Amino acid sequence: MEKNIMVFLEYKKGKLQDVSKELLSKARTLAKKLGSKVLGLAVGYNLKNLPELGEYGADKIIYVSNKELSLYRSLPFAKVVISAILHYKPYIVLFGATHVGRDLAPRVASNLQLGLTADCTELKIGDYRAGKILYKDQLLQIRPAWGGNIIATIVSPESIPSMATVREGVIAIDEITPGKKADVEEFCVEFSKQELLTEIIEQSIEEKDVDLKGAKIVIGAGMGAADDHIMELIFNLAKLLKAEVGGSRPIIDAGYLSPHRQIGQTGVTIRPNLYIAMGISGQIQHLVGIMNSKRIIAINKDPEAPIFEVAHYRIVGDLKDVLPMMIKAYKGILKKS
Ligand SMILES: Cc1cc2nc3c(=O)[nH]c(=O)nc-3n(C[C@H](O)[C@H](O)[C@H](O)COP(=O)(O)OP(=O)(O)OC[C@H]3O[C@@H](n4cnc5c(N)ncnc54)[C@H](O)[C@@H]3O)c2cc1C
Repeated sequence: MEKNIMVFLEYKKGKLQDVSKELLSKARTLAKKLGSKVLGLAVGYNLKNLPELGEYGADKIIYVSNKELSLYRSLPFAKVVISAILHYKPYIVLFGATHVGRDLAPRVASNLQLGLTADCTELKIGDYRAGKILYKDQLLQIRPAWGGNIIATIVSPESIPSMATVREGVIAIDEITPGKKADVEEFCVEFSKQELLTEIIEQSIEEKDVDLKGAKIVIGAGMGAADDHIMELIFNLAKLLKAEVGGSRPIIDAGYLSPHRQIGQTGVTIRPNLYIAMGISGQIQHLVGIMNSKRIIAINKDPEAPIFEVAHYRIVGDLKDVLPMMIKAYKGILKKS
């Protein structure tokens, strides 16, 4: 049996979303381990540059093209994915844990009576033993569980294909293979009137005011920075460092930053070269969003704050004192250079 991996490719306004590139990249690594192929499932209308997705890791693109699929609608998209799974019989199916993926994957899983692990932060291939039975080549679906207090590895050995949604930004896009082309195969799905009951009259996408995922330096503000003067200093420092500003959930809830800036389990996952945690205690729900940062500097007035356990550099002090010193120091460095 071929153990191919199908990746649902998500498009917005004709543009392939980063999470799909991340999934193709991961699928390529997993497929290598299984000796299998990566099948990208592209659903839409007039989608461009499909063979080029070979560069990210797709061996074949299954293209379902129909005007009715120009914009996402639950019923027709679910029918397409279900039909594609029944026809191509993949061993693993991956979706981004986006609004679309979180709507689509459970519909497909429930229709086909399959297991589904939501919001994975890592995927691996490995064996799983249950008593005397050894299940080989399982998709190990790894995600925080119990409010983020444990990291669970979930398998669904009796349910094939294994299905998972994966958080945006947790998987790095590996180097692309320039010039590698994927085969494109058209796959036709017909819809009944009932499946097209809803009509989208208008779609407006709220643009994000910040790109935390792509930022090289991110400053994270926590409740220790819940003060207008401190926030002003943080934005001043960010300007000097060409950094983006994100924050913990409570500081967002307190209205100091827009929701797009939330970092963590229910926010964005970042992977900057440098993360500076300012007045953040370091609860697991925040840490899962920053654990891929290359270097972490933490500033906190509590020397026992858990953030110090994951920080590479620790500054114990009050932000009101430390921030002006940092700004002065960086201004000095910039002047000299
Ligand atoms: C299901 C669920 C999902 C969640 N998702 C997220 C998420 O996505 N992201 C997230 O961040 N949280 C999330 N949380 C909340 C999380 O559990 C923590 O409550 C939160 O991360 C704490 O935020 P904080 O560190 O800013 O605040 P606090 O825990 O209150 O920490 C404030 C820190 O600031 C320090 N401090 C105070 N004043 C100063 C000062 N003047 N100078 C220096 N340091 C100072 C304190 O010593 C303290 O360590 C979630 C919780 C749940 C249950």
